[in-house]
Amino acid sequence: MYIDTHAHIYDTEFQTDRSSMLEKAYEAGVHKIYMPNVDHTSIDGMMELENKYPKQCIAMMGLHPCYVKKDFEKELYLVEDWLAKRNFSAVGEIGIDLYWDTTFRAQQEEALKIQITLAEKYNLPIIIHCRNSYRETMDIIKSVKSEKLKGIFHCFSGTKEEADEVASIGFKIGIGGVATFKNSGLDKILPDLLWNILFWKRTALIWHRFPTEEKEMNLLIFPS
Ligand SMILES: [Zn+2]
Repeated sequence: MYIDTHAHIYDTEFQTDRSSMLEKAYEAGVHKIYMPNVDHTSIDGMMELENKYPKQCIAMMGLHPCYVKKDFEKELYLVEDWLAKRNFSAVGEIGIDLYWDTTFRAQQEEALKIQITLAEKYNLPIIIHCRNSYRETMDIIKSVKSEKLKGIFHCFSGTKEEADEVASIGFKIGIGGVATFKNSGLDKILPDLLWNILFWKRTALIWHRFPTEEKEMNLLIFPS
């Protein structure tokens, strides 16, 4: 069995072919797909999908760093509310993204800290999104986390040293479709990574950069 550790399969992008994608994934051995939340607008779709495919599609709860805006506290109340009323597999996806927009950097950092605390409270792992922000993200995790907190740096694109640091705090890394890009640089470091910290995954399902006709190609499965 394979596990997809990160797929926004509830996204409207899959409105027309979601069930066939899920079927193909299942046939290919992907029996579990973990779904990271984005913000308040993605919750209903995610829950609906989990209700429909309770064994295959598993929900997480969190506020994505790209969706941390002025009203982030309101979003976090909602996250907290959901975490209090039912079980989730993880708090995610959370983190810092300084690639698209740095306007709400301070708020992103605050939201990350708060959500790490929530994960600790509910004894859940965290799913980390970090882009152009490895140092900032890692420093916050280190400053807030307790010994028992575990997590995954999803779509990792850092250096060997950074991967080792991730392993040193007991976290794992997820390798996304970016590894297949010629200029990703990951081909140079992947062979050196410790295999026991590595999670292959198929973000490919939702890899927006891939044109639609290449979706089939992205159904390649790697062992987790
Ligand atoms: Zn994501």
